[in-house]
Amino acid sequence: MTDRLNLAGSSQDEVIDFVTSLGEPAYRGRQLFAAIQHRRLRNFDEISDLPKTLRERLKETATAATLTVESRYISSDGTRRFLMKTHDNLPVETVFIPEERRDTICFSSQSGCPLQCTFCLTAKLGLLRSLTAAEIVEQIIIVLNDVYGTGAPTPRGTNLVGMGAGEPFLNFDSLLKATRIMGDAQGLFIVPHRITISTAGVVPKIRELAKIQERPNLAISLAAPTDELRDELMPINKKWPLEELLSACNEFQQTLKPRERFTFEYVMLDGVNDSDEHARQLANLLNRHKLRAKVNLIPHNPADPLPYQPSPGARVDSFKRILEAKGIDAFVRKPRGRDIFAACGQLAAVTQNIMSATKHREATP
Ligand code: SAH
Repeated sequence: MTDRLNLAGSSQDEVIDFVTSLGEPAYRGRQLFAAIQHRRLRNFDEISDLPKTLRERLKETATAATLTVESRYISSDGTRRFLMKTHDNLPVETVFIPEERRDTICFSSQSGCPLQCTFCLTAKLGLLRSLTAAEIVEQIIIVLNDVYGTGAPTPRGTNLVGMGAGEPFLNFDSLLKATRIMGDAQGLFIVPHRITISTAGVVPKIRELAKIQERPNLAISLAAPTDELRDELMPINKKWPLEELLSACNEFQQTLKPRERFTFEYVMLDGVNDSDEHARQLANLLNRHKLRAKVNLIPHNPADPLPYQPSPGARVDSFKRILEAKGIDAFVRKPRGRDIFAACGQLAAVTQNIMSATKHREATP
C-alpha cells in the first residue's frame, strides 16, 4: 500500500510523466488525471475507457484511494462528519457543511495536532502525523462523492476551509501542493480563492504565503488580545508572540488586492477572553497594526474534557459592538454540527460510543 504511488496527490503533469514512464502515450495520462480528479473515480477498474492492460499495470504500481470511511455522522442541521482512517490506521476527519449559498467542506491537514491550544479537543490527540497532499485531496473527493454522487457536478461550487484537525502551516508543502492540484480546471477545479486556510500563527509561513501569487485565503486564530492570555490559551504564542504575528499579518496585507481581506478568528470563552476590556484591547491592537481584517467571533464549542463554556449571546453582542465602534468589522459565527462533534475544535475521532456515553452539554450562547 505505502510503496504504491498515490496519484490523488499528483498534478496533471506528474500523472502524465508517470503514465509515459509505463510506455503509454501522454493522452492516457490526461485521461487518468481527469478520471481521478474530475470524475472522482477511486478505483482503477472503474476507468473503463482505459485499456484493461493499463488498468492492471496501474493497480500494481499505483493507487488513488488510501483513505477509508470508518463512520459518518449527520447532524440535525445537515452537517456531516466523516471519520476516516489512513492506510496506517490513523484518524482523519472531514466535515461537510451545507450552506444557503455555497456548501463548504472543512478538511484536516494533520492526523491529530501538535499544538496545545487549551480550548481545542484535537489537542488531546497530540500529533499522529502530517497528511500527504494525496490524503488532503482524497478527503474532498470522498465527501463530494458522498454528498452529490460519484463524479456528479456540485450544484453551486464548493468552498474549502483548512480548519479541521492539525496546523496546516506545519504541513505547508503538502497543503500547497493539494491546493494546486484541486485548482486544476481539468480536475476538481476548486480554485485558491475558494479555499481558506486557518493558522494558529506560524509566522514564517505567513510570510512565505505572502510571496505566492495564486494562493488560498488566510485566517489567523487569535483567541486573546494580550501575550499574557494568549501564552496561556495558545502556547504557540510563546514562540511567535503577538507583535511578531501581527507584523507578519501586516506584510501579508500589503500583498492583498484592494478588495481582498483576511480574517481573524476569535473563540469566545465564557469569562476568560470575552470582556468589554478584551474587546477594546483587541480593537486597539488591530488598529495599532493598521490591520483592516475582519474578525469572526466563534462561540466556544464545548466538549467534556475542555474546561470552558461558550460566552452568552449578550456578551458576544457587546464584544462585537465594541469592535465595530472602533471601526472593525466583526461577525458572529453560527456553530454547526455540535451535536455530532463536528464543530470547530471538536474533531478528536469521537465515535458513536463515546458520543452516547458523553453527557453532551448543548449550551446555546
Ligand atoms: N490549527 C489551525 C486550524 C484548526 S482550528 C488554527 O489554529 O487556526 C480552526 C479554528 O477553530 C481556530 O480558529 C480555532 O481557534 C477554533 N477552535 C478550536 N477549538 C475550538 C472550540 N472548542 N470552539 C470553537 N472554536 C474552536
